[in-house]
Amino acid sequence: MRAVGQNDKKLPSRGARIGLAVLALATIASGCGQGGTDAEPASGQQPLQAPPARALDSYATKLRAAHAARAAAAKRWGLKRVPLTAPPPPKKKPEITTRDGFEVDGHRRLGLPPVFTTVPTKEKILFLTIDDGEEKDPAFLRMMSELKIPYTAFLSDYLVKEDYGYFRKMRDTGVGLHNHTLHHPYLPALSRARQKREICGMQKIIEKRYGKRPALFRPPYGNYNKDTLRVAKSCGITHVPLWNEEVFVDHWEYREWDRSLHPGDIVLTHFRGREDWDGTMPDMVRRFLNKITAEGYAVARLEDYL
Ligand SMILES: [Zn+2]
Repeated sequence: MRAVGQNDKKLPSRGARIGLAVLALATIASGCGQGGTDAEPASGQQPLQAPPARALDSYATKLRAAHAARAAAAKRWGLKRVPLTAPPPPKKKPEITTRDGFEVDGHRRLGLPPVFTTVPTKEKILFLTIDDGEEKDPAFLRMMSELKIPYTAFLSDYLVKEDYGYFRKMRDTGVGLHNHTLHHPYLPALSRARQKREICGMQKIIEKRYGKRPALFRPPYGNYNKDTLRVAKSCGITHVPLWNEEVFVDHWEYREWDRSLHPGDIVLTHFRGREDWDGTMPDMVRRFLNKITAEGYAVARLEDYL
């Protein structure tokens, strides 16, 4: 398993390592310039394609600055440790399939969107997803931007329409806004036509308000049937991410018997505040980050893996 990008205290030594690499590159480059009097590069080494020393140096400076900003934000928001940085998105996206036991009749044959709770990966990463849209806490937006924690929102129009602008600000920080129906019904009880209104109606609203048609859909309560997936597919949904853990302001809940986090798990939480919870959205994020950072996990962006 590859180590997740760092983090506190380790940067000075990384900086020193980059410094050494810069020196080594400079030596190799000057060796070539003098007509190869030095030892030939070992096969596989391509000194001419190496980045110039100055670029590496400014990269190191940027890393240090980014880390310092993140460390300061972590302190400001009362985190126990600086959150880990996720590795870069994979060049080749993993193959997402429906979790065993979550299929509907003819799932594969009809090419219905996969329903899954974990993204296949060996990296120690998790995906944070936030549902509904009731609480619209400006402090939450600030916290997530300052800490640079990616997340994905699944929105239900009856809550979002109280303040479309709040979610526009969220979108402007790079957060993907996706479909969680118009009115948050229990879909399996509805006819196909009514499900279509709920799902495809929300596609239209998100596209109109935020300029992009969602590719992701999460059925309310995680309940769906074959009609749900058929209509979702018909209006542009490609994936149906559920979740493997749920985090609240005061506890965690697990789908699996082992009650622990796994690489690639999707974590659910909700836009909720003091009216429903004994705490705020930032309190919930603190609980989430303190646990996952202590266990060596970073938060990655779900859309980068789909
Ligand atoms: Zn919901």
